[in-house]
Amino acid sequence: MAFCNPLTTIQFIRRVWKEATRTAGFAIATLLFVSVGVQPALAQDVELIRDTEIERVLKNYEDPLLVAAGIDPATVKLYLVNDPEINAAATQSPLQGEEEDILVNTGTFLQLKTPNQMIGILAHETGHIAGGHLIRDASAMQKASIPMLIGMAVGIAAMAAGGGGNAGMGAIMLGQQAAESQFMAFSRTQEGTADQMGQKFLLKTHQSGRGMLEVFEKFANDDARSAYYQMAFISDHPADRERIDLLAREVDASPYKDAPDSPEAIHEFHMIQAKLSGYLSKPDTVLQRYPMTDQSEEGHYARAMAYFRQPNMKMALDEIDALVKLEPRNPYFWEVLGQINVEMAHPDKGIAPYQKSVDLMPDAPLLRIDLAAAQLATEKPALAKPALENLRIALQQENDNTFAWYETAQAYSQLGNEPMANLSTAELDYSAGNMGGAAHFATIAAQGLPKGSPDWQRANDIMAVIGPQRRRRE
Ligand SMILES: [Zn+2]
Repeated sequence: MAFCNPLTTIQFIRRVWKEATRTAGFAIATLLFVSVGVQPALAQDVELIRDTEIERVLKNYEDPLLVAAGIDPATVKLYLVNDPEINAAATQSPLQGEEEDILVNTGTFLQLKTPNQMIGILAHETGHIAGGHLIRDASAMQKASIPMLIGMAVGIAAMAAGGGGNAGMGAIMLGQQAAESQFMAFSRTQEGTADQMGQKFLLKTHQSGRGMLEVFEKFANDDARSAYYQMAFISDHPADRERIDLLAREVDASPYKDAPDSPEAIHEFHMIQAKLSGYLSKPDTVLQRYPMTDQSEEGHYARAMAYFRQPNMKMALDEIDALVKLEPRNPYFWEVLGQINVEMAHPDKGIAPYQKSVDLMPDAPLLRIDLAAAQLATEKPALAKPALENLRIALQQENDNTFAWYETAQAYSQLGNEPMANLSTAELDYSAGNMGGAAHFATIAAQGLPKGSPDWQRANDIMAVIGPQRRRRE
C-alpha cells in the first residue's frame, strides 16, 4: 500500500528551511508534518528537495490535469520529498493561497519507467482532490485515531501497573492496527473513485491511462508478496484485484489508450532520473550505471552530479561543460555550473553562469536566489545592490523562503542598513516559525526605521501578528 499511505495523509503545518543547504541544482529543506488528530506521536520531519527543473516538469504534468478537473492550478502546490520509497499523496494545505499540496517522493521518479506512469499517479492524486477526499480523510483519520489513543492509554496503564514493557507495547500495537484497519476500509472506496476520476482527466487531456494501470498493477503484485501484506488488518487483496480489473477496462475503453509519450518527454524524464540518481545514489553506483563510455546527455548529467557529490569538482566541471556545449540555452546546466564554481570557493566565477540561467528563465525564484547568494559571497559592495534586487523579485513569488530572507539580511548588512537587516531577520524567523526571534528583531527594526514608513509598518504588523499567538501558547 505504498500510495496514499495513511501516514502520509497528513496535515502540512509549516515549511522550515532548517539548514540553508544548497547543492548543485538542489536546495534541501526540511518540513515538519503532523498527522491529523494524532499529535505529537506521528509528527515527522520530511526532507524536501527544491529544484527548479524537477518542480517545473511536475507542474507541466499536473496543470493540464487540474484544468481538466476544473481546479485552478494556482491553488495546488507540488513538493518533492527526499525519500527512496515510491509514494505520492495529496494533502490539504494550511498555507494561505494554497488549497492542496501534492507530495511526490524522489523514489517515484527513480522507480517509474515512463512519464505516462508519473502522469497517471498525478491523475490519481488529482482524483482525490477533485473528489473532495481530503476533507473527509481528516475526519476519518480523527475517527481512526480514537482506537489508537485508547490502545495507547491501555498500553501505558499496563506498563505503569507493572505488566511488563512487552504487554504494554502489545496493547499500543493493537490500538494502532485497529485504527489502521478502520482507515483502510474507509480508504478503499476512495482509491477506486480517485482511479476513475483520474482516468477521466487523462481522457480529457488526450493521454493514455495505461501508466496508472501499470503502476497499480506493480503494487498489487508487490503487496501480495510482502510479509507486511500478510498481516490481518490489510486483508483486502480481492478488493485490490477488483479495483485493478475495473481500471484495466477503463483504460482499454479510451481512444487514447495507445497515445505514446513524446521523445522530448521521455528525454526530459530520463534527465530527471539521471540528475536525481546522480545526486542521491552512491557515486560508485552512479558510475556503474552511467559509465564514461556513455556520452549521452543523461550520462553527463548523472556523472556531473555524482562527481559534485564526491566531491571531485574538476571532473564535475568537465561533465557540466560538455552539457553546456551541447545545449547552451538550457538554464539548468548553467545553474549547476554556477553552483560548482561557488562550491569551489570561486563565487566570482559562479556569477556569470547563474546570471545566464536567470536570463534564460527570469521567472524562476530559486535561480535568482542562488545568483544573489553568489553575488553576496564575493563581498564586493557594488554587487550587494543587484543581489538585493534579485532577492526582492524572488521573494515576490516565494515570500516564505527563509534562505532568501537570510540572504536579504546579509545584503542589507553589507550596505550598512542595520534596521532593514533586522527587519529581514524578523521575516526569516517568522517564516521559520521562530516567533521569539521574529518578535525580537521586528522590535529593534521598528526602533531604527522611519516612523510611518511601509517597512516600519511591516515590523509593527509582525509584532501584532505574533503577540496574540505567543499569548495563546503561554
Ligand atoms: Zn489514492
